[in-house]
This record gives sequence, C-alpha cells and structure tokens, in this order.
Amino acid sequence: MENNVTVEVFKGKEASVNSYLFSNGESMIVMDVLRNSKEAEELAAFIKAKALPLTHILITHGHPDHYIGMHCLKQHFPVVRIVVASEAIKQDIIGFSTWMESIGWLDGEPALKPKSDQHPDGFDYEREIAVLEEPKITLDGGGTLEIKSDYNGAEAEHLTTVYSQDLNALFTSDFCYNEAHPWLGQGVDAAHIANWKAELKRFKAAHEGSDMAVYPGHGDRSDFTLFDKVLSYIEDFERVIENATTEEEAMTAIQELYPSWEQADFLLLNSVNYHMGLKQAHA
Ligand SMILES: [Zn+2]
Repeated sequence: MENNVTVEVFKGKEASVNSYLFSNGESMIVMDVLRNSKEAEELAAFIKAKALPLTHILITHGHPDHYIGMHCLKQHFPVVRIVVASEAIKQDIIGFSTWMESIGWLDGEPALKPKSDQHPDGFDYEREIAVLEEPKITLDGGGTLEIKSDYNGAEAEHLTTVYSQDLNALFTSDFCYNEAHPWLGQGVDAAHIANWKAELKRFKAAHEGSDMAVYPGHGDRSDFTLFDKVLSYIEDFERVIENATTEEEAMTAIQELYPSWEQADFLLLNSVNYHMGLKQAHA
C-alpha cells in the first residue's frame, strides 16, 4: 500500500526550532509548534494554505520552544487534538509553564499561563493535552508515525522521537541539533549528558551507513552522520568547561570551535553559565 506520506519543515526563527508538518494528501499532523505565538500565526497560515484537516499537534517534550505555539494553533484549528507520548511529558509541560509563570516569563504570552482562579482565561493544560494510548499516530487516510518516548533523561527529562517508514526518516527532536548550539543549560546535568551521549551512540550503531534521513529538533535535515556531529559537540563542550576558568573564556573557546552555529547568545550562553556554575559549586 502506498501512503505517500510527505513532510515539510517550517523553520522557526526564535531558537532555530523546527516544526514538522506531515501529510498524506488527505490529512495532516504537525510536530512541535514554535517558541512564540507570533511565529505560530505564520505556521498556522502555512498549514491552512494546504486546505487539509489537521488532526494532531504532537509535542515532543516539555520545553517551551516546542509548545508555546499550541494555543495559537488551537484557535485556528479548534478540533485538533494536542497530544504527547506520555503522562510524564504532559507533566513536564505543565511544570515548565508553571515555573515560567512564576518568574514572569509568560507575561508576553498570557494565553499560555496555566488556567487558575488568578488566570481564568489561561490555558487548561490538563484538559487540552491528551496522552497517546499507543506509541503511534495514524494519519487519517493512511500512514503511520511510530513514536518512542522511553528514553532516559537527556536534553530534557523526557523526549519523544518519531520514525516514519514511509519517509525512511527519524525525527529526533532535541537529541539532535544541527548547527545550532544544543541546550546544555538548567536541567541538563552530568547524568543527563551521559545518557544523551549513550543514546547518540545507540542511534549511530542502529543507523550508521543507512540512507535514512535524520530531522533534528533545531537546524537542517541531515543523515546518520549527525549523531556523531552532536556527540563531538557535547564532548567538546565538556572539555571546554573542564578547562575554562571563566564563563567568557568558555564562550570564546566554544564559539571558536563552532563559529557558524546559531543561538550562541541564548542557548550557548545559558549552557555555559549553568555548567560553569555547577563546576564552581563543586570546587
Ligand atoms: Zn528545543
């Protein structure tokens, strides 16, 4: 049976984060929905132009660059189901938004403030986000996205990957970044880094030499060589942190190694500050 599943990437500007739109010519599913509502409006227009029903919004993990746009999309596609692979990911999202609200980071996105007596017009995360009952989503009209989420904590505490046999493609979410600095900040401690590297080695062992496409959470499409590219970056990052005496020195050293990689001013800066802070705390 030929399902003719296709994928298009919508490239977010903030955080260089990707949104992926799957279609079989009859219906569509979108995976991750950008860091802000303004860009999500553009994503919604892009999806609407396809003139096909959007059945699911799949959020891969509880980081805001992957889910802030969901309120905007829900306004444009009222019957769409917002889904995650596990209850743990749903709770990661709620936890992150609760924390962001507590420090004022959602003041620019009031519709994403968790619904409460204080914010009656806020987002009802418990009600709006459903947990998938099985590790796959089938497109209306045929074609399956295989979902995996039983990973150890790495870039995030819980992460989802999507594999499409029709596309011969793996969507790694934030296990992979391509030419954007990976998030190694708050929440990504030594144990997470060890898990992350081990998972990249498993991906590499499983797919080395294959012609499978690899679509990262941030940056351009690649192939199996991306696993090693991310692994090398993380090893370089660890070495730089170990040898640096100041944050500035670490920033300079990493940017000299990766001069063209995007998002140094936020992703890299926070990663360096976090790990230099951990190192000083342990000194
Ligand atoms: Zn991300």
